[in-house]
Amino acid sequence: MAIADDDIERIRSTVSIVDVIGQHVQLKRTGRNWVGLCPFHAERTPSFNVREETGRYKCFGCDKSGDVFTFVQEIEHTDFVGSVEYLANRAGIQLTYTSSGQSKERARRKKLVEAMEQAVDWYHHRLLEAPDARPARDYLRSRGLSGEIARQFKLGWAPDDWDVLSKQSGIAADLLRENGLAFQNRRNRMQDSFRARVLFPIFTENGEAVAIGGRILPGSDDPAKYKNSSETPIYKKSKTLYGLNWAKGDIVNANQAIVCEGYTDVIGFHQAGLPRAVATCGTAFTEEHVRLLKRYASRVVLAFDADAAGQGAAERFYEWEEQYQVEVSVAAFPGGKDPGELAQTDPEGLAKAIEDAKPFLGFRLDRVLDRQTPQSPEAVARLGEAAMTVINEHPNVNIRKLYAGQVAAQVGLPVADLVAMAERGTRRPQLNVRRPKQRGERRQNAEFVAIALLVQTWDSIAPWLSEALFADDVYARAFAAVAGSGGDLAAAIEAADADARDVLERAAVVDLDVDPEAEARNLIGAAVRRELASAGPSADPDRIRDDAEARVRMEQLNADGLGLDAAGWLLGWLEGRWEERGA
Ligand SMILES: [Zn+2]
Repeated sequence: MAIADDDIERIRSTVSIVDVIGQHVQLKRTGRNWVGLCPFHAERTPSFNVREETGRYKCFGCDKSGDVFTFVQEIEHTDFVGSVEYLANRAGIQLTYTSSGQSKERARRKKLVEAMEQAVDWYHHRLLEAPDARPARDYLRSRGLSGEIARQFKLGWAPDDWDVLSKQSGIAADLLRENGLAFQNRRNRMQDSFRARVLFPIFTENGEAVAIGGRILPGSDDPAKYKNSSETPIYKKSKTLYGLNWAKGDIVNANQAIVCEGYTDVIGFHQAGLPRAVATCGTAFTEEHVRLLKRYASRVVLAFDADAAGQGAAERFYEWEEQYQVEVSVAAFPGGKDPGELAQTDPEGLAKAIEDAKPFLGFRLDRVLDRQTPQSPEAVARLGEAAMTVINEHPNVNIRKLYAGQVAAQVGLPVADLVAMAERGTRRPQLNVRRPKQRGERRQNAEFVAIALLVQTWDSIAPWLSEALFADDVYARAFAAVAGSGGDLAAAIEAADADARDVLERAAVVDLDVDPEAEARNLIGAAVRRELASAGPSADPDRIRDDAEARVRMEQLNADGLGLDAAGWLLGWLEGRWEERGA
C-alpha cells in the first residue's frame, strides 16, 4: 500500500458516492436509492442503484457492485491507488505516500502536469497583459472572443521570440523538454516550441493541463496554421478531447456530446449556449474517444464535415453504435459555415442544426437523394442503386430494410425490390426487376429459418409466429402442421402433405446460428411491408387509421424496448388482414 490508511478513510467519509457517480451517470432519487442507467452495460431502463447511507452501488442488470473506490477504478480504468488519488484530488485532501516504484511514476506525472499548468498560466498572462500580445488580442476580439472568453478558456500568447518561455517562466529544462514545450537546438540551447501563436491549452477531463494547441495570426508566413503539442507521457491525442473538462457536466445533463474539429468551434458552442462541445486535437475521431464520451452520454452529434470522412468512417461509426450503444448523428450547417463562425453570426441557426441532427445513415442518404431529380426510368434505377449502396454499408439488416422502404417511396421504385437488395446487403446492389423468382427464394429462406427455429427451439420463436407471416404456400402449410401439433415434430410430419413434410424434415436437422427474436422481427417486418404494398386504396376511415398506425409501428419495430410491443401489435394487425381475406 502506497497511501496511508488514514487518508483512505478520510476520503471515504468526506466524499459523497452520489456526487461522484452523478458525474458519470444521470441519477434520479427513487425512495432511499439513487437510480440511473448502468455505465457498465448497455441498457434502456435504469437498474443501477446507488445508496448514500451505505456508500455502495449495485446494478441489477449486470450485477456490478462496489464502493466509491471500485467505481472510480472501473470508470477511469485505473487501479486502487489511482482511484484514491482521483478522489483525494476532488476532495482537496493531501495524501501521505509510503514509498513504492509506482508512486515515483505518479510523482513524475504530477510534476509534468504542474509544469504544464505553470506554462499555461505564463502564456495566459502574456496574452492578457503584454504589449506584444496586442495583435493577438485584436484578432481574438475580431473573432468574437472577448477577454472573458480568454479567461474562461485560459487562452495564451506565445511571443514572437525563440526562447522567452524557456528563459523567463522558471520551469526546469527537463520538464519543458518532456512536455514538448521546448527542445534543445543545434547550438545546444533551449528553444521554445511555440512562437507567434495564439494558444489553446488542452486539459484532461479532470481539468489537468496536459498539452497546448497553437494557431498563427492572419498574415503570418508560417505554413502550419495549427500546431499541437506532440504526444508526451501525460498527453495521448487519441484519448484526449479538447473541452471535455468544461463540457462534461452539460454532456451528462443533455445526454448528448457535440464533437467538432476546432478549438474555436468548441468555444463557439459555449457562446451559443450549448456548452457540451468537444474537439479532437488534430486527429481523427477514434474509438478511444467514443469510449471516453460513452462514460458521459449515449448520444453523439458530429459537427464536422462528415461527408469528407467517407465510407471507411461510416463503417466505423456503425460498429461503434453497435458496440458501445451510442447513437451517432450528424449536424448539417447552413451555407457550409463552420460552427465557430455560425456561433458569431447566427447562434440560433447553430442550435437548430444540432437539434435537427440526423442519424448518420439518414444524413448520407439525404446527400445522395438531394443531388438530383431523375427524369428517365434508367436514372430512377441508378438513383435507387446509389441509395442502396449507402444503405448497405449498415450492418443491421432491419435498419437497411427500413431505409430501403423510405427510398422506395421517395424515388418511386417497388418496395419489394429495394427490400430484397437490403436483405442481400451487397456493396454494389443492382436492380433487376426481371428476377422475381430469385427474390421469392430469398424470402422463402427467411420463412424456412423461422420454421426450423420452431421445430428445434419452440419457445424461442413460437409467440411471434402466425400463418399470416408466410408468403409461400408450402412453408405456410408446414408451419400450420407444426403449430397444429403443438411442436410435436413426429405428429406434424404425420399430418403434413409431401412438400410440407420435406420442409419439416430439413428443418429438423439444419444448423442454425441466428437470433430468434431478430428473425421473428424480420419476418413480421417483411409481411407488413407486403401487406401495405399490396393493399389498394381504401375509403374506410378505420382501415386508413389502422394502416397509418401500422406504418408508425414499423418504425418502432427495431427499437429495443418498444420493438417487442410493436412486433406484437403488427402481428395482430396481420392476422386481422389475413382472416379478412380468408373469409
Ligand atoms: Zn449494469
